[in-house]
Amino acid sequence: MPPVFPFLPQRLEGLVDVACNLNWTWNREARRIFAAIDHQLWTRLRHDPLALLQQVGAERLGQCAADPAFLALYDAVMRWAAAEQSPSQTWFAQRYPAEAGNTIAYFCAEFGLHHTVPIYSGGLGILAGDHCKTASDLGVPLVGVGILYRAGYFDQQVRNDGWQEDTDDPIDLTRTVVEPVEGPGGVPYLTSVRTAGRDVFIKVWRLRVGRVTIYLLDADIEQNHRDDRHLLSRLYAGGPGLRLRQEWLLGVGGVRVLRALGIAPAAWHANEGHAAFMFVERVREFIVAGLTYDEAVKAVRAASTFTTHTPVPAGHDTFPVFDVAECTGPVWEEMGISRDTFMALGRYPVSGDSSFHMTTTALRLSRRTNAVSRLHEAVTRKLWAPLWPDRRESDLPVTHVTNGVHLATWMSNSIMQLLDAHLGQGWGARVDDAAQWEHVLSLDATALWNVHRWLKNQLLVHAREQARHLFSAHARDAAQLVGTGVLLDPEALTICFARRFATYKRANLIFHDVERLLRIVSNPSRPVQLIFAGKAHPADIPGKQILQEIYQTTRDPRFEGRIAFVEDYDMHLAHVLVQGADVWLNVPRIPMEASGTSGMKAALNGVPQLSTMDGWWEEGFNGHNGWAIAAPPGESTREEDSAAADQLYELIETSVVPTFYNRDANGLPQRWIQIMRHALCAAGARFTSRRMLAEYVNDYYVPSIRGEKTPDEAPTG
Ligand SMILES: *Cc1c(COP(=O)(O)O)cnc(C)c1O
Repeated sequence: MPPVFPFLPQRLEGLVDVACNLNWTWNREARRIFAAIDHQLWTRLRHDPLALLQQVGAERLGQCAADPAFLALYDAVMRWAAAEQSPSQTWFAQRYPAEAGNTIAYFCAEFGLHHTVPIYSGGLGILAGDHCKTASDLGVPLVGVGILYRAGYFDQQVRNDGWQEDTDDPIDLTRTVVEPVEGPGGVPYLTSVRTAGRDVFIKVWRLRVGRVTIYLLDADIEQNHRDDRHLLSRLYAGGPGLRLRQEWLLGVGGVRVLRALGIAPAAWHANEGHAAFMFVERVREFIVAGLTYDEAVKAVRAASTFTTHTPVPAGHDTFPVFDVAECTGPVWEEMGISRDTFMALGRYPVSGDSSFHMTTTALRLSRRTNAVSRLHEAVTRKLWAPLWPDRRESDLPVTHVTNGVHLATWMSNSIMQLLDAHLGQGWGARVDDAAQWEHVLSLDATALWNVHRWLKNQLLVHAREQARHLFSAHARDAAQLVGTGVLLDPEALTICFARRFATYKRANLIFHDVERLLRIVSNPSRPVQLIFAGKAHPADIPGKQILQEIYQTTRDPRFEGRIAFVEDYDMHLAHVLVQGADVWLNVPRIPMEASGTSGMKAALNGVPQLSTMDGWWEEGFNGHNGWAIAAPPGESTREEDSAAADQLYELIETSVVPTFYNRDANGLPQRWIQIMRHALCAAGARFTSRRMLAEYVNDYYVPSIRGEKTPDEAPTG
């Protein structure tokens, strides 16, 4: 529902279209044109083109429309936008011409595409966003299905004492790029889903991501019962009962929305178990069309892919059978099966467990299941082995596709320019070529170091500008301002840690031995500074306590203002941090981080990671591109934490700090720069979403579309 732009000259009208498709976010020229309109305002508005076009004023827009250089850029952007919509050739069309007419449906409970569309909470959503962006790049015929949350992705406000307060400002849909999809005959809804004895009508919004469309479900319309209008309003908020109903609406409603739009997917992908009811709805459809239950399950399995992201039992959604019956019932009657048969879909076959598992439902109803890293595959096999009681763990039908990140979204402009000069224009089209990435190892040291210093400075500028805002808008006191990073030193070694404050990520590990950390941080000749960012889930009290603990250290004078907590972690801040850090710190408790992706984003900017050997780092660390904490599992988490912290300090003291501060005659840390090159090389060659999506297409989607006959290894437990 784009707002109107009264001052936009006709000559520049196309900018509205560009702003309304999110592919501008990863096109360099399109980004440049918005910045060229008013660089200061563009920065202040945190790269929000709709707000920019509204606020910039007639005079400046008039100047742009009369400026030949601006118009040349404008025309180039218009040509790009047109070519994007009707490409002459794409990777998918070239490789799979016979499959090009098919559609792949991709369901996820959250999508992180840009911070102006706040319908994500963390890694899962960003991964889904990167997946869709890459599908657009490669011409993969994918449609996304998700939920339009109107609130619940809270703005973070940290109280003076460090306690995170969660504010819940609803998003103003007229200021975002989501567009309503009208129902038949102009009704506002496309379909309905029965839950808890009532029909809930589903309105749909469209989000354009290059050539990919994501359909977002919404229940907040007046046709719905007052109590139902807020079922889809908030992301991961409320208790399990609300969450169950969100997942029911996403899965069932999502399939029905695609049907209402006349979309007939040939392959279906549930990204995480939240979307598992999508499989159930398709079983129901087949039964209504005349298949037996067993036939329907087989048919659904054949076309389905399921990706699991959670390595720990407690992380998987489970619901009491009674609640599931109340939410979904009596759908089993429509399916011609008993309630017990229905509930058996979600049964985890170990004694004493009578709850309904979303992951087992997904495992039973999809032929192709993958974890998101090599290590996570092993953990996943162990976790779900009871579903295949007759098979050895090594022989279960579970594979992995290691996550990757969208290069054009996460790599900074200035690193891209460096690669333009070094690899030659057009390198972006050759990211599959490993030899190209080997070339990165000969990047000029001075050039790379200068770009990095500039990006690091941008990070400190960002922290300072945020401090200015907090000071003027919220009257923060001096001690609080110190904690926002105003005293950070552009020359000091800067370690960043930014992610959700889930306890297993151990944001506080580096505070394990405060005296030792003090010696590291306040070393007079080799100071170290730490920047933290991240939100705790509103209901995660231990997470909030860790956040508070860290926040309070930012004001401890013994740390000399060298520890900062930057508020309101979102994709925008993530960009600034992954591009400007010297070191990316990642210390999850093994094996809790299925993959982790922020370290890949950092590495694409030449920022090495210091990490426990968990998730992607178990594959990504090669001895040259960062540091690995390889602490063995301990008897207790306390022991494990203490061993990991020890190794962390040891690495910082004996390797990270000396390597960073060891300079040659020109002031360059040559060995450090070599680590940066290796970080970039390894990430470019192996951890982009392009590599990831190609694997999904080749090994999952296309075999599904072709109905390839592999033995069906359905769970028997
Ligand atoms: C990449 C990203 C994440 C995920 O980071 P992890 O390292 O996987 O925890 C979370 N939030 C934002 C905003 C991100 O950009």
